[in-house]
Amino acid sequence: MANHHKLIIVGSGPAGLTAALYAARANLSPVVFEGIQPGGQLTITTEVENFPAFPNGIMGPELMELFRQQAHKFGAVSVFADIVKVDFSERPFRLWTDKEVLTADAVIVATGASAKWLGIPSEIEYMGYGVSACATCDGFFFRNLEVVVVGGGDTAIEEATFLTKFASKVTIIHRRDMLRATKIMQDKAQRNPKIAFVWNSVIEEIMGKNEDGRKSVTGVRLKNLKTGESSILKTDGLFMGIGHKPNTEMFVGQLEMDPIGYLITKEGSTRTSVQGVFAAGDVADSTYRQAITAAGSGCKAAIDAERWLESQHD
Ligand code: FAD
Ligand code: NAP
Repeated sequence: MANHHKLIIVGSGPAGLTAALYAARANLSPVVFEGIQPGGQLTITTEVENFPAFPNGIMGPELMELFRQQAHKFGAVSVFADIVKVDFSERPFRLWTDKEVLTADAVIVATGASAKWLGIPSEIEYMGYGVSACATCDGFFFRNLEVVVVGGGDTAIEEATFLTKFASKVTIIHRRDMLRATKIMQDKAQRNPKIAFVWNSVIEEIMGKNEDGRKSVTGVRLKNLKTGESSILKTDGLFMGIGHKPNTEMFVGQLEMDPIGYLITKEGSTRTSVQGVFAAGDVADSTYRQAITAAGSGCKAAIDAERWLESQHD
């Protein structure tokens, strides 16, 4: 079978490439399908300051290239294609790209979760230059500056609260006049003197400047949904807090997932509801969603896959 592999890894973020590194060193000859975002979410950010062993920080794309190089060094192979369909109902498992059908004895799903974005053109222009979806990652850059967080759920409140460690002022923009966040989180935010709220409003445009090739955010244009009025709020940064979406559409009906779509793994492991299919990284993690935790679970998935494959020969 030309297109048969012992292990296929779907996704090439920190989880997928760490799984590839460990699996390659375990002689599983892993093939990584890198998907539409080779290197994953970190390739759309600038400096990563919290990945251990880089005391001076490292640019996201460079970090992910190092992940890839290390996995390839031990024999992992990358295929720059998307998996568009899977059938986990029988073994070997079947996976499809646009061009071919592949089979695998084991699969690691590491397709990540994508932050939801507003869908306005200016957010793409300033992404990584003042527009972020990760306060833990980028909050540090806003020391003594003013920032805006959009959203009214726990993520928005958590991000806003975290950002008050750095920013001089954090304004939460919410499209309704009532937060969705849990009461305890709401109370915490409302008691925080650095946090202000703008209710019933949406962001229509992100404004910024480009000085000597250096882009930065200067404000947002808001629309009040009750009055229809437009206004401009000056800000140095904008954080998305409107939720995350795990990339799991393809696995609906095949792998067990929670109501939001995160894959469910068996306690203390990366095993999914289908034996021989493992999940690693943000795709199965609605809580931490960090590069280092994704990498850690990628390592676990490779070890789980290796042991499971071994057990099939007993
Ligand atoms: P991802 O990185 O999301 O990778 C998913 C992979 O799956 C991609 O390669 C994609 O192409 C692939 N894929 C998806 N669907 C398919 C398919 N059908 N077929 C094949 N491949 C597929 N974390 C930190 O710790 N520090 C930071 O500084 C930091 N900064 C961030 C900045 C930004 C702007 C964002 C958005 C996130 C940031 N994060 C940061 C979070 C971090 O990037 C994620 O926690 C981490 O990337 C998750 O890794 P992952 O491997 O699970 O998935
Ligand atoms: P969420 O609960 O779905 O909230 C998303 C928020 O963003 C809502 O307030 C929503 O507005 C708003 N929103 C969505 N799309 C928008 C858009 N296009 N424009 C403007 N606003 C938009 O998502 P979440 O906050 O990420 O939380 C997801 C889950 O994780 C929840 O179960 C939450 O409890 C949990 N979580 C827990 C913690 C914690 O316990 N510390 C932290 C983070 C997340 P509406 O309210 O009008 O719908």
